Amino acid sequence: MRSTQRRISREIAGARISVLFSLCLDKATGDMETARKYVKLIRKISTHYKVRIPNSMKPHICKKCNTVMIPGKSAIVRIVSSNRYVAYRCSSCGWEFHRHY
Ligand SMILES: [Zn+2]
Repeated sequence: MRSTQRRISREIAGARISVLFSLCLDKATGDMETARKYVKLIRKISTHYKVRIPNSMKPHICKKCNTVMIPGKSAIVRIVSSNRYVAYRCSSCGWEFHRHY
């Protein structure tokens, strides 16, 4: 019983995370402060319900300042071919996310 309740609440949490992320992307073009608020909520939900943030979202969320990182607008993306990774750098705080290929 308890485990089914936990599973259902995790499913709802995952759905909320995906909805919040799409809202973030809408707000990121204009209202940056609201977008940051949504990112904070995403991280709060994922830690409380122990739901992973999907790998597809990870390069778009800054872990340091909760900014939505959109390439060309709020993030700088470059390829480091010597070490075989793609670096996503946050424009507002300089935090980097590396994704190996
Ligand atoms: Zn940042």
